[in-house]
Amino acid sequence: MAILIDGKAVSLAERELIKEQVSKMAVKPGLAVILVGEDPASQVYVKNKKLGCAAVGIYSESYDLPAETTQEELLALIEKLNVKEDIHGILVQLPLPKHIDETAVINAIIPEKDVDAFHPVNVGKIMTGDYDFLPCTPAGVMCLLKHYNIDPAGKECVVVGRSNIVGKPQAMLLLHANGTVTICHSRTKDLKAKCLAADILVVAIGKADFITGDMVKEGAVVIDVGINRKADGKLTGDVDFASVEPKASYITPVPGGAGPMTITMLLKNTVKAAELKGE
Ligand code: NAP
Repeated sequence: MAILIDGKAVSLAERELIKEQVSKMAVKPGLAVILVGEDPASQVYVKNKKLGCAAVGIYSESYDLPAETTQEELLALIEKLNVKEDIHGILVQLPLPKHIDETAVINAIIPEKDVDAFHPVNVGKIMTGDYDFLPCTPAGVMCLLKHYNIDPAGKECVVVGRSNIVGKPQAMLLLHANGTVTICHSRTKDLKAKCLAADILVVAIGKADFITGDMVKEGAVVIDVGINRKADGKLTGDVDFASVEPKASYITPVPGGAGPMTITMLLKNTVKAAELKGE
């Protein structure tokens, strides 16, 4: 039987550390959270981000904008927040409405306040290993591995998914941690063979219960980043927990595994942004 990686518990422990750190700072770190439109999932994420800030003593400011907000209006708000003294981090909830160019918006946030680590400057820094901010979801996965004393060094690490926000930076962080990394995607030939080689398997594809027990090596560490809603409304990951758990040595459940870590890492980045500003 695998050991369950408890993302809720690790997240709470990390938040305690953040809270303590914030309590010692002369200036409260501040996060601006921008939501455009009324996507229900985005509304939940934004609400949880604001609650997370409040729980650790980070000041947060909300900008709930109507779906018809123009790109120019959004860019003007970002410009204002880029120079606002009490704001150290700016988060624009994605996805944005179709008429707004996401890349232009990401590029408009100054790298020093880009607590999602999506700006090309921060993406480049992740590549070289000389980074200020780590992208929240992959950083959360690394934090879970560390808490459970799972060292990627010398291990075969397989990342399934190559998105800019999860798969690619995840692969880079595992590489920085001295793992031997393989990135798989929808065009990968014989995904099963690739997955079977993994000592550490990180899955982020967005397909419910896709990775099954026959694709996982006995004793592998399995991290499921996927969040999928089933027809009955329940959440499930990209990994078929029932068939994979008996083979894994460690596994993250969904919900309660990788998910809770993402916002905690955002809080960490906001504190870092304030520290870098000398607060
Ligand atoms: P995404 O942008 O849709 O990327 C999905 C990736 O999976 C793509 O690289 C795609 O390959 C690959 N893929 C799709 N089908 C595949 C298949 N059959 N075999 C192999 N690879 C396949 O998704 P994402 O934003 O990275 O998110 C992935 C999952 O993580 C989603 O369930 C999302 O909800 C979840 N997520 C969770 C958090 C969190 O807070 N825990 C944060 C972000 C995302 P191609 O590149 O070839 O198309």
